[in-house]
Amino acid sequence: MCLKGDRLISYLIKPRKHLSLICAGKREPIMTTIKIKGMSCNVFDKTGTLTKGEPEVTDVLTATGMEEYYILKMATSIEAASEHPLAQAIIEKGRQEQVNPDPVEDFEALSGLGARAVLNGKKCLLGNLRLMGKKAVAMNGFDQKAKRLASEAKTCVFVAEADRVIGLLALSYIPKASARAAVSSLKGMGLRVAMITGDNERTVQAVADAVGIDQVLAEVLPGDKADEIMELQAQGQVVAMVGDGINDAPALTTADIGIAIGAGTDVAMEASDITLIRDDLRSVPVAIRLSFQTMRVIKMYVQFVVMCMTRQRETRKAASSRGRNLRNFLMIGPDLCVEQKRSSLKRSRRRLP
Ligand code: ADP
Ligand code: MG
Repeated sequence: MCLKGDRLISYLIKPRKHLSLICAGKREPIMTTIKIKGMSCNVFDKTGTLTKGEPEVTDVLTATGMEEYYILKMATSIEAASEHPLAQAIIEKGRQEQVNPDPVEDFEALSGLGARAVLNGKKCLLGNLRLMGKKAVAMNGFDQKAKRLASEAKTCVFVAEADRVIGLLALSYIPKASARAAVSSLKGMGLRVAMITGDNERTVQAVADAVGIDQVLAEVLPGDKADEIMELQAQGQVVAMVGDGINDAPALTTADIGIAIGAGTDVAMEASDITLIRDDLRSVPVAIRLSFQTMRVIKMYVQFVVMCMTRQRETRKAASSRGRNLRNFLMIGPDLCVEQKRSSLKRSRRRLP
């Protein structure tokens, strides 16, 4: 009997209800199961994975003499062309405040940093501190204001016009209800749990504290996420990566086990070994436990097959020795056989004291 890995799993695993939480991805399910058995570290992406994909604008700060409406108008005009979760939240805030966005020129999304565009003939920049530093923008005291907001787990988006920051939007990410339970369950299995994100270190630390994560890999550009995973692997860790976005795809492929959030992007799902069908992070420890259970069942199955084969061989050996006796009996004749038996009986009696 030969069952392919995935069929074997679905035949042997009793709690089939869990199979409706997860589905297999790019690698052979049996290979994934074997790898999970040895995993030691679980890395979560932040935005859209540990936190809800829809952040909310909580504060709008402006430079002296600047109108809040003007900052919101600039931000919504630039973000109108972006698909980032932060952009969607800023657009929503603009809608609530009845802001009419202006058309922009030369829009460019800067992965892991923000976006740039030309608005009313002026060069505008919108994004994180890293982007402002990279483009040598004058911070105008907004870096200090951002520090306070970041310690409240808020993400700060700076709005700059003509190389000078003129406003700041703070957005709060709400951790998913299932995040804390999933992290504590994974830690209970003795796994190291980390978070990786392009967001600011302070903000990330506050989110990590809220969900119980000890290690944060912050301000990692999307292209560098895979390198961070390789770094962990070089330290001897067997790494599982959980992510949702296009920018997580290289890290999902590099990790020993890639786990995608079903509500995330198709690219992330394509790059992963497992997809969580529901947007419930508790499915991560469930998938791991299921793999442990599968390995136990496979071991039992292999032991059973070996036992059956050994017994079969023994039965065949016994049958062939019975056949040999019968052949001897027929070849040398029944009388001689009886004679042989008698003489061996005499010999053994003589040996008795
Ligand atoms: P994560 O790694 O958490 O999934 P991203 O790599 O998508 O996050 O983004 C990292 C950071 O880049 C964000 O926290 C934000 O500061 C900045 N950023 C990226 N895109 C935008 C955007 N369209 N608007 C504002 N900020 C952005
Ligand atoms: Mg993400």
